[in-house]
Amino acid sequence: MMFDYLMTLEQMQLRNETRELVKWIPREYILDMDADKIKYPKEFMVEAGKRNLIGIRVPKEYGGRGGQWQDDIIVAEEICVPGYIFGCVWGVTGDVVVEALVHFGTEEQKRKYLPPICKGEKYAAECLTEPRGGSDFYGATTTARRDGDDFILNGQKRFIVGGEGADYFLVYAKTDTEAPANRSMTCFMVERDMGVKTEYIYNLMGARGGGTARVIFEDVRVPKENVVGEVNGAGKVFNQMMIPERFGTAAMTIGAARPALEIAADYSTKRKAFGTQIKNFQAVSFKVAEMVTKLDSARAMIYTTARAIDSGQVKASRCRRMASESKKFVTEQCWDVANLAMQVMGGIGYTDVYPIEKIVRDLRLSSIWVGTNEIMSLIIQHEYYRERLAEIADGAKRNSELDALNAFAEGEKIYE
Ligand SMILES: Cc1cc2nc3c(=O)[nH]c(=O)nc-3n(C[C@H](O)[C@H](O)[C@H](O)COP(=O)(O)OP(=O)(O)OC[C@H]3O[C@@H](n4cnc5c(N)ncnc54)[C@H](O)[C@@H]3O)c2cc1C
Repeated sequence: MMFDYLMTLEQMQLRNETRELVKWIPREYILDMDADKIKYPKEFMVEAGKRNLIGIRVPKEYGGRGGQWQDDIIVAEEICVPGYIFGCVWGVTGDVVVEALVHFGTEEQKRKYLPPICKGEKYAAECLTEPRGGSDFYGATTTARRDGDDFILNGQKRFIVGGEGADYFLVYAKTDTEAPANRSMTCFMVERDMGVKTEYIYNLMGARGGGTARVIFEDVRVPKENVVGEVNGAGKVFNQMMIPERFGTAAMTIGAARPALEIAADYSTKRKAFGTQIKNFQAVSFKVAEMVTKLDSARAMIYTTARAIDSGQVKASRCRRMASESKKFVTEQCWDVANLAMQVMGGIGYTDVYPIEKIVRDLRLSSIWVGTNEIMSLIIQHEYYRERLAEIADGAKRNSELDALNAFAEGEKIYE
């Protein structure tokens, strides 16, 4: 599988490098992460950094790979094959936090933070969600009070992937409680050594071993040089971050679901019932067909969206809509794939003899984190209604509503 026919030779090479990286991971390492014996996969990040596989879209001058989304999605898919959490940790560091620095960071911030992140020497986490809620971004209660040349941060963030291992935290905090919501927050690059505390307290259902932590700020002093973007300008940063958070997650999720298909399809060729391989029952082989179709259609959406974003020709609001559609659609397809795979496996799929149950546990996260799928629907409908109004005003398209026999029937088109 994978869309080899859409890849350049360099992209195939990149994919192969990533496959080598994930083959390097010992199975005990994966099991220890799932058992929460490993709290943060530092060794994996070090190895990924050595192989120049962190920061795929970061410019080469800052230690990245200098690629585009069309390259990134290939790595993202492969990196999740050993487990969703590998992509989560890799993604927040090398796709999400770096995005803020590349787009909004000062030259000094880029030179200081990007190279060690890309080399796998330092690790980053993104802190949006708070105990009081994650969907309502502007409702944040973490504050950053100005004190001379510094800001003093107070508050808590919750469920922060990579938090336990992170050296750097990209934090959104309220800096003007009186201002309109979209001018009320500021984004900061906060270093652990400035006084950040983390607690590894969650007994997660899946996606374990990725350092998902509570992050606490108690009078943490952050110099103004660590503001990312403008003071009270976090809204702009957040809008940009929706792409790597949501689109990157969608690409990763395909990789986490793919092994479920492979394991279930292999099983169906070996397992027999009623004297024949179970794949000879359409009830089984059609499930495999459904899984293949779901993954390929998910991938088609990802590849198209990557091209749209990379082109630089598609306006930001449309890119955000496509990223939200990708996140919603792909995570739903992948969730179905994991469950179909479990059904194909029968009872043994529900045990830890095969990793299907782990894949199901891991993938349940995908429709919740980086913005729930309900929030994705909120964005999709909002952007679509806006685009549709512009289309109507533009008048360039055929008005399909009139293609009905009684389109002009008097007194029938009543709207109120
Ligand atoms: C393992 C894990 C890792 C995570 N990693 C990170 C991370 O690295 N960084 C980070 O900042 N956060 C992270 N999160 C947090 C995650 O992004 C949030 O949990 C998510 O955005 C939802 O926020 P919430 O849990 O506060 O739910 P709430 O915002 O309280 O939402 C509860 C329910 O209400 C629905 N809802 C809320 N508002 C609306 C609305 N306007 N319209 C329709 N439905 C609505 C939601 O869809 C949801 O079903 C992680 C979470 C988990 C579980």
